[in-house]
This record gives sequence, C-alpha cells and structure tokens, in this order.
Amino acid sequence: MAGTNYNVYKGKISIRSYKIVAVLSLMLLICNQGISQQYQMGNQKITDASALVHAKTMLAKLTLEEKVALCHGNSTMTIAANPKIGLNEEFVFSDGPHTVRFDLARESFDRAYTPGEASTNLPALSALAATFNPGLAYAHGRVLGAECRDRGKDMLLGPGVNMLRTPLNGRNFEYMGEDPFLAARLAVPIIKGIQEFDVAACIKHFAVNNQEWNRNGVNSICSERTLREIYLPAFEAAVKEAEVLTVMNGYNLFRGEYCSHSAYLNRNILKGEWGFKGFVVTDWGSLHDAKKGALGGLDVEMNAGKNIVHYPKNLLRLVEEGEVEESIVDQMALRVLFVMAKLGKTTGFVRAKGARNTEAHQSIARKIAEESIVLLRNENDILPLDRKNTKRVLLLGRNAIEEHCGLGWSAAGAPPYEVTPLQGIQSFLGEDVQIDYFPLVNQITAVEQISDHALLTEDHAARDMGMTIKAWKTEYYDNDKLQGAIVASGYTRQLNFLWEQVEKPEGVPEHGFSVRYTARVKAPKSADYAFGMQAFNGAVLYIDGEVVMDKWKAFAEDIQTVRVPLKENQILDIVVETRVFDPKQPFAFGWKEMGARENEDEIIQLAKDADAVILFTGTQHGHGRAKESEGGDLPGMQQADGVDEAVFKYLTLNTSTVIVNQSGTPLEMDWVEEAHTLLQYWYSGQEGGNALARVLFGEVNPSGKLPMTFPKNLKDSPAHFLKVYAKDVADHKEGIFVGYRWYDTKQIEPLFPFGFGLSYTDFKIYDLVSPGAFEPGKPMQVAVKIKNIGEVSGAGVVQLYIHDKESSVERPYRELKGFKKVHLKPGEIKEVEIKLDNRSFAFWDEALHGWKIEPGVFTIMIGQSSTAKECAKDVRVNLGWTQKVREQ
Ligand code: BGC
Repeated sequence: MAGTNYNVYKGKISIRSYKIVAVLSLMLLICNQGISQQYQMGNQKITDASALVHAKTMLAKLTLEEKVALCHGNSTMTIAANPKIGLNEEFVFSDGPHTVRFDLARESFDRAYTPGEASTNLPALSALAATFNPGLAYAHGRVLGAECRDRGKDMLLGPGVNMLRTPLNGRNFEYMGEDPFLAARLAVPIIKGIQEFDVAACIKHFAVNNQEWNRNGVNSICSERTLREIYLPAFEAAVKEAEVLTVMNGYNLFRGEYCSHSAYLNRNILKGEWGFKGFVVTDWGSLHDAKKGALGGLDVEMNAGKNIVHYPKNLLRLVEEGEVEESIVDQMALRVLFVMAKLGKTTGFVRAKGARNTEAHQSIARKIAEESIVLLRNENDILPLDRKNTKRVLLLGRNAIEEHCGLGWSAAGAPPYEVTPLQGIQSFLGEDVQIDYFPLVNQITAVEQISDHALLTEDHAARDMGMTIKAWKTEYYDNDKLQGAIVASGYTRQLNFLWEQVEKPEGVPEHGFSVRYTARVKAPKSADYAFGMQAFNGAVLYIDGEVVMDKWKAFAEDIQTVRVPLKENQILDIVVETRVFDPKQPFAFGWKEMGARENEDEIIQLAKDADAVILFTGTQHGHGRAKESEGGDLPGMQQADGVDEAVFKYLTLNTSTVIVNQSGTPLEMDWVEEAHTLLQYWYSGQEGGNALARVLFGEVNPSGKLPMTFPKNLKDSPAHFLKVYAKDVADHKEGIFVGYRWYDTKQIEPLFPFGFGLSYTDFKIYDLVSPGAFEPGKPMQVAVKIKNIGEVSGAGVVQLYIHDKESSVERPYRELKGFKKVHLKPGEIKEVEIKLDNRSFAFWDEALHGWKIEPGVFTIMIGQSSTAKECAKDVRVNLGWTQKVREQ
C-alpha cells in the first residue's frame, strides 16, 4: 500500500526534530551574517560610482568586436569570458524564479544533467505572495542568492511580477497575483536578498506580458494610466527601491512593437524616467531585429545558444555601415560591465560565499509554504484535524502523490528531495498511521494528458530552435472528412483545448476542417489503461493501426473511454482523427491508468472507516506543458474532468471531507457551498507536503491570504467579461479594473475575495488612529490595533485600502496601499503602523502625463481582506499635488 514504499526525506519533521532544525537555522543565520560581512567587505566598496569608473576603464580596453561580445550570449546561459578586462570566467545566468534551476546544454534548452546540481526548490511566487510577508520574501531572495553563488551563477532570472489579468495565464503560478502594490512590496526584498550575495536579480517580463497564448505574437495594448497604475509599479519599485541590476523583456509586443524593440519601455521609462543603471536582457529569443533592439534599448540578446543570432551577426555590421552609432554599442557594453563590476565579477573583490541545500534553506522553504496555505473554509471547526485520534487516513486525488518541482518549463527545478502531501502527512503522523491513497474514483471516466515521460514523438521544429519538446504531430485537411491533400502540418504539445483558441495554420478554415494527431507512446507499466476523448465534433482512435474507438458520429459532450490492457514499455502508435464544425467546443484526448483497486464500494467503505478523508483538487503542473506552465494558457477554469462529481460524492458520504486545492491560479469550485473545509495549497516547493501536514493537524496556524481574487467563473473576470482575452491583440479594455478593482467596482461577487484567508483563531481590528488630513509631500502615519481574540496563537494580516470619495476620473472602489502581518498569542494586542505617501492617494493623469492627487476626501479602510472593512476613517486632502513625468 502506498505510504509504506516511498522514501521520506532525511529530515522527517517531528516536533523534536523541528526544534533541532530551529537551533540549526539560528546557527546558520549567524553564519549567514558572516557571509554578509564578507559581502560587505567586497561589494560595499563597489558603489555605483566606482563600478561605473571601473566599467568605463574596462570599456576603453575593448575593441568593437569585444564590446559586441558582451552584448549577447555565447551559449544558452552564458556571456563569453574576456580575461583582458578581468572577466576570467563566463558570466553565468540561471532560472529562476523560485529555485536555481538545473543547468542547460550550451546550444539548446535541454537539461545538461550536471552531477550534484540539486538546489533548494522554494514555493512558487504565487505562494510567496500569499504569505503577505516581506520578511519571507527577503529570506526567499537570500536563499536564491546564496545558492546561486554556490553553483557559480552570476544572475538569477527572477522575480516575475506580471499581474494576474486572466485566470488562464499559464504562468500565474510564477507571478505574485493581481495587485501591483503587493507585488512591489514583495519584489523589493526578494531582489535585495538575491543581490546581497553579489548575484544580479532580473525582474521579468517587462512589460504587459499577461498571457502565454500566442506569447510571441500577441500585441498588448493598454492606456498609459493602466500601464502606470497596474503593470509597471512592481518594476518601478524594483528599480528605484531595490536597485535591481537587470530587467528582462517580455516576448509579447507592446503597442505594436516587440518589447525588446520598444524604446518607450526600455529607454524612455526604464532608463530615462526611473534611472535604471543595469542592463536589459531579452527573454530567451525575444529579439527579432538587431537594429531595432539596439535602438530600442535592449542591451543583451539571449536564446538557446545556437539561436543567438541577431547581435552576433549584425551589430558589428550595423555600426560599420553607420546604421547604429558606435556610442550605442558602447552604452550597451558599459551597462553589462557596470553589472559585472557591481557583482565583483571583474574587479577581483571577494564575492559573497554561497551555501546550498542547508537545513536553514530547507526550513525557509517549509516556512514559506506553511505561511502561504490559505484556509478558505472551515465550517464547524473541522480543521485542524486531531492528530492523536487519527489512525487511518484516506487521501484522494492525484495531487496527493504528484511531485511538481521538476515541472513548469523554465520554472522547473531539481531539488534534492520533494515531499509530496502523502509523504508529508505520513511523516507527520508516523508509520503506525495507515494512509490509503486513490486517484479520484469518478476519474475513471476522465483522462490525463499523456505525459512527456511516455510520449516519444518530438517536435522537430522546436528541435531546430534548440528545444526538446515532446509533442503530437498534426496534419490538417481543409474539409471535415479528412479528404484530399494535407494542407498544413506541425506539432502540438497538448491535446486539451477549445478549438477557437487553437492557432490554425494558413489554409485551415476556422471550422469545417479535420485533423489527424499522431504520436508514439511508451506504456509506463503493465496495467489496463482507459483511453478517452472528449470530442463533441466526433473523433476516431487508432492504436497500432486498429480502430479501437469510433465516435465520429457520437457528438457526445462527455469523455468517451475505451479500456486497453498494456505491458510495461510497450510501444504504441496512436492516431486520433477528429473534425471541427463547432469551434466553441473543447477537444481532449488522454489516458488513465486503471488501478488494481478501482472497486468503488471498497473505497467508499474506506472513506467511511477513515478518521480523516483528504481530497485533492486542482491543476496538474506542466504536464506536457499542457496545464499550469510556461508556453500555453489553461484551456479553462474548470477542475479536471470528473473532479467536481467526485467532490460532491465524497462530501455527501462524509461531510468532514477536507478539500485541498492545489493550483497557482483561481479555479472554479461549484461544490464550494457544500465543502465544510477548503485549503488553497499552491505549488509549494520541496517542503510542501510537510507544510501541508503541519497546517492540517494544527502544528501551524494558517495565515495565508489570497493574492488574487477567486471569481466564481471565468466570465466574471474582467478580460473575459469584456471578451478581450484574445490571441493577436490583447486590448486591455478593462483598463485599471484588474482583479478586485474590477469585482468591487462592478459589484460582482467573487467566490473568495483578494486578501481573504481564515485562521484557527480570530482577530479583531480596532482603534484606527489617523490624522484628519493628508498633506502631499509629508508621509502620514496611520495606526490601528489588532487583537487575537481566539484560543490559539496565529498571524493576522492588517490590510489598508484607500477609497477616493470624489474624483474627476473613475477610480477603483478600493486600492491596497499598506499591509502588515502580525503574529499574536491568544489575547495579545499589537499596534500596527502603516505609512502612507503621495502614491497612496495619487492616480495617473493622462493629460498631465504624471501623477496627481486631487483635493477632496478619501476613506482609509482597514480590514482582513479586500471586502472586510473593520475600521474606516475619512482623510481630507486640502491642497492637491501633481508630478509631471518628463517625457524622455
Ligand atoms: C522564459 C523566461 C526564462 C527564460 C530562460 C523563457 O522561455 O520566458 O522566464 O527566464 O526562458 O530560461
């Protein structure tokens, strides 16, 4: 039985061992101070001024060719060495954003499998954001900085701060939610933490890079006000407050130009207005034209090694032909040299010493995961579960046993171990407790995407670009009968989509076409597999040339399955043919291994006998790049097929069933009213399972808050409500009304609001003290009291929102302008102070091209979520204020 035959990582967390870990953490913290002293000795001396002097001296030694060589990679993750200027070794990049990723091959994006490269895998940034804890963000940054140094990396490709505009964005899990203020407050300490170790952070993806759907071709359009108020603040804070050393452009176009060609973004705003001193790097492959890049302010081109072609091939020629002035290349190379000098890379200073996979890093990974878990429902105080009286536990749903750290494309890590929920719970409860695990019974009819491990077919086009991507070969016909010649062919990474969202090649009509998918697949083990397809438009499945399921005329909305016995390592040639006359319909094809114990009665009996039933819902992480992962958006906001039915069933059987939803983005939860408990569990890194167990059994009191609104369904969310989530032009017509700004203002009730999260105790916020007036230019201090009025210790988050009562422009009903996480013992009271400044009251004025505060009355609202107002006070602004931003 599962639960006995897996490896529990060396540091099983019992209370005793936790104390040992705590002492070790303290010792390591002291050691870390030693490290930072070393850092101070080295890097403190490297002020911006001296780095610039050094960089200029080095630049003067270089030929034009050598300058150009600093402006592009010489392999996928390096810039070439040049001992002449003290650059004795290559400058090395690494992903990012929540781990120091495994090494990549020099010429492609393939994993290089460097021995001994395992690195701590922290929770994804969406989880970090849910902690609402800048202290943990700083700790997160320090872990990454230290591990980069230990792995010889000079630059970490993170944090990612693109705002959650649509729940479908495949990378929401990598970002920090929907609020620019929250993302900014967390990005700053992350960057400081990384850079303290003489490692450059790289804030990404600049800018308005809000979807993965057609990410290389989508043109993001938004008003200047939307840009300034929603999409830029986290970048701006990173530059101005954290002095981030590098910025990565997005793949998308912004107002009709690729971000990497956009002088408006890179020269005017970033380098001009904000005074950014470091270098701008492409996303890997986001540069399309050397001249446009150089003139647009893009300093460094990166891609899969052999595809780094624009700057190396053309920059020199462009200078020689007078198309690009040499001084521009000088400026580009100078910025690279400046960053290298700041890090001590070229100066010979002692750089901070790293450390990796220490117990201190592991306990930070666990702490972040613990503080990130959001308790969304807890009727009748079912949670925490009673550890003493729990002897049998039933876990349901794949996410109980799935490892997620190694998935998610560029955000995938290779940690030394990963504790799954099942392992964490078993480790917490001890081997005497019996844990049974089953995939959700109702999923017998559902299917999963055939994973990369089993798929043998490769995308040849991607291979030419240096990527190994497992994919299905596609062949299109321009009629719905597979007749005549193939009009287009290619590859697709997933068979799970809405037809209208599929990019059809030229020659294929929007509907009235047919398509054949082909792949070679290897069976992972000997078992019966249910192959299934959801094809309202009709489909046929062939295995090894034989028709095994013919639903060409079925037009069924449900998934149709067929059971096929397979032997381990058996190779199958699979062909799925389908046709499309209604592009509004979804299409899915996949399989599911049928367990030996699929007998539903038996599982139902186990559910009745168990002391705790814990059911996992949510997304799968990056399977075949089909789900939550870079490279594609989610096909919808629904739970995987069959999950909703299973949840209803188990809730009826046992109303105490604990629901744990794992995802980095909001999902629909039709059963929420029936669920007495609900925990939001993110992609929580290598310590996730331990963290979850400790929250479930009350060792840790949950204190996570949602960094994103959970809408009831997709059509409630702004871009979908306005039907402006689109493939080619992402017209941000919702403007500044993103996330709770939209739901509040339009009075659309969400499933769970931004900032929401329960605790095993309760907090009361009262006694708001604030000056009656705000004078622009003079920061204002607001104070409030928070009391733990429950029985156990816990942490509450005081959240301050501003509401502008009278305004000449439409403003969101409320905007987050301050927050503080406070740990309190039962009965304890603390006073919390929050500082407000001009930006807290200002909006971006389009006509002025700058920030403006209008005289009038504002309400300060303080509560424990965006919708829970516990204290409020009016503040008058007597004299307005403007700050015109000089157009560069
Ligand atoms: C991603 C970046 C990442 C880069 C390097 C790109 O595909 O968009 O976020 O840092 O690859 O791996």
